[in-house]
Amino acid sequence: MGTATAVSPATIFTETSAVSLPARRIVVADELGYCWGVRRALDIITDAADPADKIAPVGDVIHNPQVVERLRERGVEGTASVDEAVSRGFRRVAITAHGMGPHLAREAEAANLTLIDTTCPLVTKVQRLAQKLVRQGYFIVVYGDGYHPEVKSVIAWAGTSKALAAKKMIDLPWNARRGEKGEGKVPPPRKVAVVSQTTKNVDELMAFANQLQALVIPEGGEFRLCNTICEPTSERQHALKRLVERDSVDLILAIGGKKSSNTARLADVGRQMGVESHHIERPEDIEDGWLSAASVIGVTAGASTPDDVIEDVVNVLVAKGYAAPEGGIRPVDPEYVPAF
Ligand code: SF4
Repeated sequence: MGTATAVSPATIFTETSAVSLPARRIVVADELGYCWGVRRALDIITDAADPADKIAPVGDVIHNPQVVERLRERGVEGTASVDEAVSRGFRRVAITAHGMGPHLAREAEAANLTLIDTTCPLVTKVQRLAQKLVRQGYFIVVYGDGYHPEVKSVIAWAGTSKALAAKKMIDLPWNARRGEKGEGKVPPPRKVAVVSQTTKNVDELMAFANQLQALVIPEGGEFRLCNTICEPTSERQHALKRLVERDSVDLILAIGGKKSSNTARLADVGRQMGVESHHIERPEDIEDGWLSAASVIGVTAGASTPDDVIEDVVNVLVAKGYAAPEGGIRPVDPEYVPAF
């Protein structure tokens, strides 16, 4: 373990580079942390927040415990359902950035509650696309985690029994190519479309889609892959790849709430590139053993990770003897709107 450098945690983001790079240093992905959709949702909810007229987001407003706690202080408290919100005396409920099925708006209206919808427009796009594909006769496979609210919302908006979530071929009810016959053989229907949870890894999506396509295409089958991984998620994954390739990173710390799917994917990207990678929620999660052989530490963060948590992690690493990231963390472009 190294000793603390002369770099002050308070000034880490204004330090300029030395002529030669420090042996033990921190490098930061040029796209990390809060995505456009999460910032937008938090702006909507904090603008509406009022401790005298509390808001109950149904589910986690954001997969980050630190932010959830701060919102609670402003009168924003998560609830499991509209019924629970009513029983706890709330008069306002909210849909989180992950989206919800159409039932939520109906339930809120029936209970005479005001509904605040912070669904990310990039999630809404997937929900509408699923509806359109159903109208076109496709069986919908949502590549993603079946328990995740976004995936549940897409399936709910599809509004059909011919839709399911899957991450592996074994999650599907089909085990044979179209036209294959025999005991226990279950081929897929003629038209199958795949959409993705917005926060998934594009390489893994393509590997899954290639396997499924091989079952669907024979005998006149139609297969459609809709890459609905959102631009901010792709950018974070690409930025991490660039960081690993450019800076010979020894260790990656992906910062984000334990339930954050996109943070978990970032750690996966690091591992797939052969770099030891850990998904951490807060600085206390860093284990000294990880640092013993790590000279260059790459830092990235999921779409629901606030800037100050990233700064806390960097500050702890600085205190452990790593030089602060050259150039600091890239500031947010307030004009940015992703493609969708
Ligand atoms: S990860 Fe993508 S889809 Fe999800 S909230 Fe952020 S921008 Fe929207």
